[in-house]
Amino acid sequence: MSINLQTDVKYLQTVGDRRAAVLKKELNISTVSDLLYYFPFRHSELFYTIKDLKKFDFNNSDNKVPTVQLQGTIHSVQPLYERTAAIFQDETGTIPLMWFKLHDDSWLHNINPSETHVLFGEVTTFNGKLQIVSPFFREISNYKLSNIKSIFQSYYHSTSKLYRQFSQKNFHYEFGRMVAIACYEALPSAKETLPEYVIEKNNLIGLHKALGNIHFPQSEELLKQSVCRIKFEEIFYNQINILRQKVNRHEKKEGFVFEKRDNFVKTFYKKFLPFSLTNAQIKVLQEIRSDLISGKQMNRLLQGDVGSGKTVVALISSLIAIDNGYQACIMAPTEVLARQHLTSISKLTQNLGINIRLLTGSTKNKERKDIHSSLTEGSLHILIGTHALIEDAVQFQNLGLAVIDEQHRFGVAQRAKLYAKNIQPPHILAMSATPIPRTLAMTVYGDLDVSVIDELPPNRKPIETKHFFDNKRSETEEIIVKEITKGHQIYVVFPLIQESEKLDLKNLEDGYNTMCQTFPNYTISYIHGKMKSVEKENIMTKFKSREIQILLSTTVIEVGVDVPNASVMVIESAQRFGLSQLHQLRGRVGRGAEQSYCILMSKFELSNKTASRLDIMTQTDDGFKIADADLMLRGPGMLEGTTQSGTPIDFQLTNIASPQDQKLLVEVRDFVNKILDNDPLLKSPFNEVIVSRLKQLYQNLIDWSVIS
Ligand code: ADP
Ligand code: MG
Repeated sequence: MSINLQTDVKYLQTVGDRRAAVLKKELNISTVSDLLYYFPFRHSELFYTIKDLKKFDFNNSDNKVPTVQLQGTIHSVQPLYERTAAIFQDETGTIPLMWFKLHDDSWLHNINPSETHVLFGEVTTFNGKLQIVSPFFREISNYKLSNIKSIFQSYYHSTSKLYRQFSQKNFHYEFGRMVAIACYEALPSAKETLPEYVIEKNNLIGLHKALGNIHFPQSEELLKQSVCRIKFEEIFYNQINILRQKVNRHEKKEGFVFEKRDNFVKTFYKKFLPFSLTNAQIKVLQEIRSDLISGKQMNRLLQGDVGSGKTVVALISSLIAIDNGYQACIMAPTEVLARQHLTSISKLTQNLGINIRLLTGSTKNKERKDIHSSLTEGSLHILIGTHALIEDAVQFQNLGLAVIDEQHRFGVAQRAKLYAKNIQPPHILAMSATPIPRTLAMTVYGDLDVSVIDELPPNRKPIETKHFFDNKRSETEEIIVKEITKGHQIYVVFPLIQESEKLDLKNLEDGYNTMCQTFPNYTISYIHGKMKSVEKENIMTKFKSREIQILLSTTVIEVGVDVPNASVMVIESAQRFGLSQLHQLRGRVGRGAEQSYCILMSKFELSNKTASRLDIMTQTDDGFKIADADLMLRGPGMLEGTTQSGTPIDFQLTNIASPQDQKLLVEVRDFVNKILDNDPLLKSPFNEVIVSRLKQLYQNLIDWSVIS
């Protein structure tokens, strides 16, 4: 049968049903195209004769070992203590071979020294001499050398199941052979995926050449060019996809026009706003305001570090909606947080005369019905709540603005439901306290308008962050005593509720017992996600009213909780948490005017990466700096706050944490913007290739761009 990119991999020679099933399960590879787009993670130089190999510069090889694919004969097999040695010979010379701890080396002794074999292996040096350790053989008659002869050996990421299915010892050769067959069979008929003019203007190489050379580089230069072409293409389609959606959104979506701002907004500013807004808050409100009068539907992401004052921005935006005769809602990811929004917003608007209610999973039936009816008749102005807001039974008379707090906590589908609460979609203000580096925002949120609050309210003292190993517990206890004596309160966060056999981490139960023993005179309590919401609420109320002095908790308090009197955040097993999570947790203190502390407790043995994470925390308080560091340490894709963005960044080669790739990203983005400026709907025949490739790449994606 003829094989092309869409062919099932099982039809490739050497694959078959069993291997195909494993490829699908382990690597999600089902078609030949999937296989060709599964790129090697490393290349090492590949030599075909012993003489050539002797030219390899071991002192200058960046720890990469050269690989050989030699053709020749095996001689002088002899057992050494726990080892087996032999000599391999080809037309150009000889090289020693060595096996360690072979269970059974009889096959080696039985090898016929006049028979030609193909040998694969990695070359190492021993006492300054070259040797090959544990090579792998094929009789020449069993091995059809692939038609593609590369100067590199490619290495592919694998899993234990794949190793078993292909070859324990020689996975990369076996896998590479399959890829070689795929290249040979399918590349000639593969269609170019970038328009001719794009390739030309950007000095790229063609698709065939790039795919062929990424797996089997013919030269170092070609390998570079292939990587460049593939990165370009990855970024190109990512950007075309999100920027095109932005164009569509602006073209299509009408938005309510909120021109009036006389009544509530004015009164609020004049009479009730308890502080002056920071310049950053003012700037952001102007951006929101200009969206709200533009006639286009707003879809704005408001980024601002913890404590930067997003709530009041959400409130003022809601008041604008109300002044124009519309309703607003604010959706938060947890009940604790929703309740807190209710408290702080009710306090701010106490005598303003607007009607605000809370709807969560635990709202009683009777109250729920009451809320439903006041929503539909329009007497309810702002509805605050959790996921309960998006239930079908919740119908607004006229929803004009939906605020989504900690937006990354919500699934895309949930956000879409909120969006559909009106025939004409409401304006959307998504808020996030997880700052995202600019390059990442460009690739993930390219379709959103982004506002940033990059300034904290005045008179905040930077939080002092310390890192102690578990054996320095007494220093932590000293700080706790000192702060409680001053009348302050303490958080202690644990990664686990109960002891775990598998994980060597501090847990809340043990921590509670220890705390009670250490501090018998303090009131200590705990809160965790498995408790009923009434219980949680009860505890939070007691903590707010200072009845509880030390609150032990799992990460349920991570988002948004506001208790300004708490001045110490102790994080147990801090090695367990990611950077942005640590930053979020730390943001629970430092909310008052007094000095606060964050104490990271960890075990003594830390990996380098973990140690740098904790170091960064002690060095900076700046959420954007932390986000950049997070991107560097973890790479994109894994970052909290992006996994549910709905726009997958499926970069295989591009690493947007690397400065070079960031530069490429900006270039490609400019280029894509020009294309869309000239041809916003990609109707030109020159761009046909783009449209069909987009369809292929994003066929399974719903148009999430309409929501944040
Ligand atoms: P976040 O951005 O984390 O949601 P909040 O909106 O909860 O932050 O605000 C944190 C605290 O700062 C609140 O107690 C709030 O009243 C206060 N705050 C907000 N804006 C200002 C300001 N301009 N000046 C002084 N305090 C402010
Ligand atoms: Mg908040």
